[in-house]
Amino acid sequence: MDADRIKEKLNILADAAKYDVSCASSGSNRKNSNKGLGDASNGICHSYTEDGRCVSLLKILLTNHCIFDCAYCVSRKSNDIKRAAFSVQEVVDLTINFYRRNYIEGLFLSSGIFKNADYTMERLVLVAKKLRTEQNFNGYIHLKTIPGASDDLMRLAGLYADRLSVNLEMPTEAGLKLLAPDKSRQDMINPMRFLKNELIQYAEEKKLFKSTPLFAPAGQSTQVIIGATRENDVQILHTADHFYKNYNLKRVYYSGYVPVLADKRLPDLNTAVPMVRENRLYQADWLLRFYGFNVNEIVDQQNPMLDLDIDPKLSWAIRNLHAFPVDINTAPLQMILRVPGIGRLSAQKIVGARKFARLNWEQLKIIGVATNRARYFITCNSNDFERRDLTGTRIKQFILAGSHSKYLRNKPGQLSIF
Ligand code: SF4
Repeated sequence: MDADRIKEKLNILADAAKYDVSCASSGSNRKNSNKGLGDASNGICHSYTEDGRCVSLLKILLTNHCIFDCAYCVSRKSNDIKRAAFSVQEVVDLTINFYRRNYIEGLFLSSGIFKNADYTMERLVLVAKKLRTEQNFNGYIHLKTIPGASDDLMRLAGLYADRLSVNLEMPTEAGLKLLAPDKSRQDMINPMRFLKNELIQYAEEKKLFKSTPLFAPAGQSTQVIIGATRENDVQILHTADHFYKNYNLKRVYYSGYVPVLADKRLPDLNTAVPMVRENRLYQADWLLRFYGFNVNEIVDQQNPMLDLDIDPKLSWAIRNLHAFPVDINTAPLQMILRVPGIGRLSAQKIVGARKFARLNWEQLKIIGVATNRARYFITCNSNDFERRDLTGTRIKQFILAGSHSKYLRNKPGQLSIF
């Protein structure tokens, strides 16, 4: 292996991969049972930077050559940049070497499109196959699939990878048409549907036959780019909700657009990366998946954008003051989950603890409730804080005055992977 050339390729292809946020090595359960290398399981294989991006994987492109010309992408064919491509064996060797040195816990492999979807996808699958079958590698593998690749290749990919992602890229079909005219939404939806059905089928077979192989045990995910086109948060969250409900996605990743290319269809080069908006979308996504909210409660045509100053749960509570105060000692779990400052774990602890005693502020603090926020929305077994007749605007002001949220001061910037 020519070390200098490999290093150069690594610089180019790791740098080009950093714009794809759709990697997080959670939710897999591949065990090392054959004295092989690595062990991908919940909790051991992922770490996040401050802005939520995962860096514990070797995150590279197989190539940044591409036959397509997506306006938002540095690898687009019309962009004048240095090009490089790894061979299948080079990616395998790099992964194993980095893994042995403890630099990484797995591989996230994406690619520009060499000749056509199948030609490229075949190579991505070969990397995963070689790692599993020749190197006995049990670490985490996330493959990004190539839109338009055949079902057979998708099935093979699922047999070797832990997670597969089919990136939607733009939140709406119209946005995709504008910025990625070579791509078809249907080419993204077909593999998602195929993977969903395969995941269900393999899970059913596994119940009957223990020997059924794992199929993408960490499921499928997608990425949407935020801020490159004009979609509002209502559209973005409805898209996410639709794909969660109909394609059993594990995660939707929201990627704030990084302006790296001058193009009249795109925001100006000096436009800030919408990091705060990206974070608010993740919070809203969390409310959809774990807190029983629906999209229309979080954003609607009157409030089509998430409030950037405060999180979406607080924003909802302020708009719905008539639903409060909630008596923490009697309210149902679903309502306690809607109180700002009370997370899922705390809500469950409250419901468990109140069986034995009526809870007061001190006990709520011990449980982990952020009482500086929750105090405006709850009553408990204590008169220490008398709920004043505050307007939503005043509550927001009080909470913001005492807030230390890093997102209020967040400076836009792009993460460096290495
Ligand atoms: S197909 Fe993928 S790699 Fe190629 S230009 Fe579009 S986004 Fe970039």
